[in-house]
Amino acid sequence: MERKLAWDKYDEVALKDMHKLADGYKAFLDTGKTERECVAEAVRQAEAKGYTDLNKAIEAGKNIKAGDKVYAVCMNKAVALFNIGSKPLSEGMTILGAHVDSPRLDLKQNPLYEDNGFALLDTHYYGGVKKYQWVTLPLAIHGVISKKDGTNVNVVIGEDDNDPVFCITDLLIHLSAKQLEKKGAVVIEGEALDVLFASMPIVEDASESEEEKKEKIKDKVAAHAMKLLRDKYDVEEEDFLSAELEIVPAGKARDCGIDRSMVMAYGHDDRVCAYTSLVAMLEVDKVEKTTCTLLVDKEEIGSVGATGMQSRFFENTVAELIDRVEGYNELTYRRCLANSKMLSSDVSAAYDPNFPEAFEKKNAAFFGKGMVFNKYTGARGKSGSNDANSEYFAEIRRILDDNDVTFQTAELGKVDFGGGGTIAYIMALYGMNVIDAGVAVLNMHAPWEIISKADLYETTKGYIAFLKEA
Ligand code: MN
Ligand code: MN
Repeated sequence: MERKLAWDKYDEVALKDMHKLADGYKAFLDTGKTERECVAEAVRQAEAKGYTDLNKAIEAGKNIKAGDKVYAVCMNKAVALFNIGSKPLSEGMTILGAHVDSPRLDLKQNPLYEDNGFALLDTHYYGGVKKYQWVTLPLAIHGVISKKDGTNVNVVIGEDDNDPVFCITDLLIHLSAKQLEKKGAVVIEGEALDVLFASMPIVEDASESEEEKKEKIKDKVAAHAMKLLRDKYDVEEEDFLSAELEIVPAGKARDCGIDRSMVMAYGHDDRVCAYTSLVAMLEVDKVEKTTCTLLVDKEEIGSVGATGMQSRFFENTVAELIDRVEGYNELTYRRCLANSKMLSSDVSAAYDPNFPEAFEKKNAAFFGKGMVFNKYTGARGKSGSNDANSEYFAEIRRILDDNDVTFQTAELGKVDFGGGGTIAYIMALYGMNVIDAGVAVLNMHAPWEIISKADLYETTKGYIAFLKEA
């Protein structure tokens, strides 16, 4: 059974439309390199389309009715958007859910140290990474420093053309005989992922006492780096204790390939599904069933924490929404969740011609063959997977075919080669139908990942069709 290439059906108009969508996506990626930045951008775009803060409606005791559009933000790292339909909420919602956290290196709470004329920042990697991929690349620092006075300082260094960048060094090939005998997982070890931060010592201040000078002599380079941070951001070294600073690849999303058919960028997993879900959500206007888009955090480390999918944030928000629309009732709430239908919007592995041995070609996702559905994920015999119902996928197939959306089905590589998970199984706990659906990615979890613009386009159309018709 062969699946069709989306490219074969495109005319000039469709191609133009596809590239336009890709341009919007690249801009979204450049603005959102952390979960916080993605949530802020999603809220900005939603407000421009008439969405208002659900909490403000709650505070004002204002009712919400069909046609209203609201959002709720959780700790600046997750957001839920709702477009209220004409049908009662007990009939369920159509939900798109993606995650906006991506693999990266987080600064430790006490990151700064000096070693022989270098100031370095110690990191702890976040999510599944091949550590050796993160060395000798230009890196940027994104995040927040939360100060004791209650203010948050936003930090972005390394993205502007005039900004400096940072780097994790690797051993020169000339001296790597022993390193190259090691297994891939330990060629670069976690504790060796320290970021080169500075190398110029602070200038002695003549007005200081001998005592003060002695204090500084120890770590002059680190002291200089701290002075620069203090001057720019008004922060002290102790403020690192309450900071969330993420080391990510520096630079913008770019077209890839001589034909510009692909996009190379940091964070396709899972911002490609977050963006396409957001676009679909903001485009579909008058609805019968309430539509919802969830952009959540912490998927890459198991959907844990208050801002991950396992948190009660989503349940609480739905309960509040029901309260505003028709008055809270537990049975309505339970029916609303159980009768909902969801696409767990997450990426899938694309067939890689450099590594054909990792894929079973009949059940692999290919670039250009459209939106990818994973009936199940998991590892070692589907363990940990949401195995979607056949009846549900039959309904989805009908919607996609009716709307001329090119799609394919896939597994994440060959049986017993590894595996992975998404947020699908968590949403399935409510007794709702859920299936994984998204975009195929090459180099998944690498600093620079690649997707096909045709798949981006088809997935957006697929999400739109789902929100309208499921
Ligand atoms: Mn993902
Ligand atoms: Mn992932």
